[in-house]
Amino acid sequence: MDIRIDIDRLKRDLEELGRIGRDEYGGVSRPSFSPADLEARAWLRQKIEEAGLCYRQDGAGNQFGRIECAGKTVMAGSHIDTVPNGGMFDGAVGVVAALEAARRMLEEKIPLKKALEVASFTDEEGNLVGDFLGSRAFMGLLDENEVRNGWTSFGMPFRDVLKRTAFTADGILGARKDRPALEAYLELHIEQGPVLEEEGIPIGVVERIAGKHYRQCAFVGESGHAGTTPLELRHDAFLGLADLALRATQFVATKHYGSMLTVGKVALHPGSFSVIPGRADFTLEFRSVSPEAMAAIETDVFALAEDIAATRGLKFVSKVVDKTAPVTVAPRLTSLIEEECRSLGYASLRVTSGAGHDAQILAGACDSGMIFIPSPDGVSHTPGERVDWGDLEKGANVLLRALLRLAA
Ligand SMILES: [Zn+2]
Repeated sequence: MDIRIDIDRLKRDLEELGRIGRDEYGGVSRPSFSPADLEARAWLRQKIEEAGLCYRQDGAGNQFGRIECAGKTVMAGSHIDTVPNGGMFDGAVGVVAALEAARRMLEEKIPLKKALEVASFTDEEGNLVGDFLGSRAFMGLLDENEVRNGWTSFGMPFRDVLKRTAFTADGILGARKDRPALEAYLELHIEQGPVLEEEGIPIGVVERIAGKHYRQCAFVGESGHAGTTPLELRHDAFLGLADLALRATQFVATKHYGSMLTVGKVALHPGSFSVIPGRADFTLEFRSVSPEAMAAIETDVFALAEDIAATRGLKFVSKVVDKTAPVTVAPRLTSLIEEECRSLGYASLRVTSGAGHDAQILAGACDSGMIFIPSPDGVSHTPGERVDWGDLEKGANVLLRALLRLAA
């Protein structure tokens, strides 16, 4: 069937949503459960109801718009929360395009064999307690202690954030009971990298999504006077960190090329120019699309840290903050998406996703796939985030047709 999305309506929706949470720096600041996010949620609810979809929201604040039908549910969506001072396309594209696809199916009165549901997941960006709060809640994968006692990235207990909303820890922890049996999940998303634009190809068919392992770590040594403690008698925590950061990066670059390792945040204590650092707190995260590489990096990098600690007379401590497994997209979804690209006459390329997405979490319940469109200049998570409307139209058409194949 030759059915297409309405790009003018899709563009209007995205522009309307993009005005909610506009900040003074020209970006969008709409972290989950902020006043701007609550406004965006009300907007989405209205759009879902106007489209004639059946609206529901679960205890974690995940929002859904459903076309009811017997049988399993085919789901498509993404998220409408943003990082502080982010852009208007990351996440929003996937939710609004899924809504447009469902709207077109209703307008054309297409008979479905399976239920179809548009989804918007809470806090994909991890501004509250860890990444993917909503999709993890949906899957029953949350750490209860984190939900009840965790602190947000804004330095506020999560429970205090909840008090300003209608959501509760019990509701979040119980969200999984509202999950329907899923047939498949599809997510349209901006690439957030430069590959598609460089290749001049409008559609990326995601083959694999990288896993992530993130720890809060510290080397603990001994502070001392920077002028009177001889170098050979020091237990300098920063030197342990510097040594680890360089050698671990070199290890990943040479033994697991294509995987990533990053020390992103560092705090030295006591933090004075004239005092030897007695403690170095830092984050360490690594990512890979290969489960074998993830396991090998975990073993070798933390053995290296212990080794450096022993050599330098330090103590190494670490705590896992977040672990997400890499996902390989089911071949039936990658080939189905490619077939639809071919029938629409769009060039496509198989790509991997270095960033995490809700699709990765949903892969625990059903076949889960992603469609990427180019990010001009590879820019994302900043006010400069853009899309080419022509590419978005293509991506949304592919999503619509793939959903029809799965549900009709
Ligand atoms: Zn996103």
